Amino acid sequence: MRSASHAMKQASAPDMRPEAVLREALEANGQRFTEQRAAVYRYLASTHSHPTADEVFTAVRAEIPDISLATVYKALETLVGCGLAVKLTYGDGSARYDSRTDPHHHARCLSCGTVLDVPGRLDPDALAGLGPVDGFDVQGYRLELVGRCAACAA
Ligand code: ZN
Ligand code: MN
Repeated sequence: MRSASHAMKQASAPDMRPEAVLREALEANGQRFTEQRAAVYRYLASTHSHPTADEVFTAVRAEIPDISLATVYKALETLVGCGLAVKLTYGDGSARYDSRTDPHHHARCLSCGTVLDVPGRLDPDALAGLGPVDGFDVQGYRLELVGRCAACAA
């Protein structure tokens, strides 16, 4: 049997796999399986676009017309709590959601807000090039590349 983390690498068309992964993760976290949560997760697992809650709401409403933005938002937070999604937060209070949960970095377009995955990793020694921060115990780092996406640069 493939593990949940392998299933996360999805590059294939949506199938029954996301639902099995979701059921298992919800159960492990004492959460109920609902059609709303399933629809939100199916959509998130099917896209690499790092959608906002609003974008997920718009997509899922095509399938469940009476779903509310609040329900979508809560479903997304539940997925994050179950380790099935990652929330990317920004200084202006906005957030995007990513069903890819393995460590990776992002590039964000300053014009349109598009967020893309960045392949590869920095050499761990790169951190050593930064000076110590007075008494600060560094436990990790976040890296975001910013610039213009292909569409905006054209
Ligand atoms: Zn752009
Ligand atoms: Mn990502």
